[in-house]
Amino acid sequence: MPDCYITIIGGGIIGNAVAYELSQIVGNQVICVLDKNPNFPGENQTARSSEVVHAGIYYDKAHSPLKARLCVEGNKLIYEFCRRYGLPIRQTGKIIVATNQEEDRSLDELLYRARENEVPGVEKIGVDRIRELEPNVKSYSALWVPTSGILDSTSLVCKLRDLSNLGDLYLLGTELKNIVVENGEFLIKANTKGVGENEFTTKYVINAAGLYSDEIARMVNPNFPLRIFPVRGEAVKFYQTREDIRVSRNVYPSPIFYDKPDGTRHLTVGVHLTPRFAMGRDGNFLFENGDFVLGKEITVGPLNRKKGDEIGKEDFGSDLAPISVFLENIKEYFPGVSIDDLQLHQTGIQAVLANSQDFHIARDELHPNMINLVGICSPGLTSSLAIAKRVREIIKNSERF
Ligand SMILES: Cc1cc2nc3c(=O)[nH]c(=O)nc-3n(C[C@H](O)[C@H](O)[C@H](O)COP(=O)(O)OP(=O)(O)OC[C@H]3O[C@@H](n4cnc5c(N)ncnc54)[C@H](O)[C@@H]3O)c2cc1C
Repeated sequence: MPDCYITIIGGGIIGNAVAYELSQIVGNQVICVLDKNPNFPGENQTARSSEVVHAGIYYDKAHSPLKARLCVEGNKLIYEFCRRYGLPIRQTGKIIVATNQEEDRSLDELLYRARENEVPGVEKIGVDRIRELEPNVKSYSALWVPTSGILDSTSLVCKLRDLSNLGDLYLLGTELKNIVVENGEFLIKANTKGVGENEFTTKYVINAAGLYSDEIARMVNPNFPLRIFPVRGEAVKFYQTREDIRVSRNVYPSPIFYDKPDGTRHLTVGVHLTPRFAMGRDGNFLFENGDFVLGKEITVGPLNRKKGDEIGKEDFGSDLAPISVFLENIKEYFPGVSIDDLQLHQTGIQAVLANSQDFHIARDELHPNMINLVGICSPGLTSSLAIAKRVREIIKNSERF
């Protein structure tokens, strides 16, 4: 008998969503979660994301089939889950704006992807409708994306952890150091801060270690081919202190498409505006007339400036972009804002894959009881509950389930 039946490496949104999903099918088998963060929720991608509920329009079905499908599924699941448990979420909708004819053509390409991915309700809108929705946005045309929104990732991750009810099998401050395959089981070698080394055996390993998931996959299979290419996203913010800088939904620029020599077509989403929730004096999220209330804060970002070897996987602070660069990126479509309105917000680093545009969610080829979740970058937060259901499907077909 292994000491622990299923071991999940990583306590970000993915590790917690998987723990929640599997806790519903394992009966009295033991699940444990390991995270190197000493506190919960700690430093990771989840804590530093833009917290946008994506609709699923950006992903090209041919090269990112998992993102295309799991984002649309995850969008629906996350609204249902947050509403069921009263967690902060709001379906603000989003406009993606073109400021000239060339950008307008990019919107057509995006609209095509939206339809391919069966994203509900996306439509092209003109200047009058844009003015009605967002009077301070300057635009030639736009896409209206009604299923986009915002959420509070901390509330979500805490709820998933509580519902999984793992108690002291949720091991914080515990860093996985190595995995040894022994007699059809895995020997987990970890180190807990202030306690020291510990070892235990497990039947299944779910690798949800974000930026380190590629290195952990190679602990079990040195030939695991994928590599994480960290991409740092920097963000600033402003407070809506004047009428001409008010917005009440996600506002994105038109994406920039580019072709790579291998024939794949990529895009950058661009520096966008995201409203945040209002908090009451008691520190709780304000809820009025059946919805969570928007606050004065708007985040601006992320600006993906530093990538790959230019940064470490935890380099959040070196050589940050000057605030003027953010202004340059948004002033065309949001002219009311000035440099004096903007201030630093936060930086996050995404676990993008070097040679793939998609999520990697699969059993290891040599040791199939290891399930790797690698390259879970944006829209990983939105897709999390759908990703967890996919892991459940993979594991359900295994022995003893
Ligand atoms: C700037 C930015 C903006 C984003 N915006 C959005 C957005 O608006 N919408 C959206 O849907 N997605 C967004 N994303 C993507 C989303 O945040 C991620 O896809 C998601 O959070 C990934 O969750 P995760 O659990 O896989 O990884 P993480 O949250 O990084 O968690 C991985 C965990 O593994 C732990 N770990 C790593 N190595 C070890 C080890 N050896 N031992 C033990 N523990 C270990 C880490 O401590 C960490 O807690 C954004 C990401 C960034 C960085």
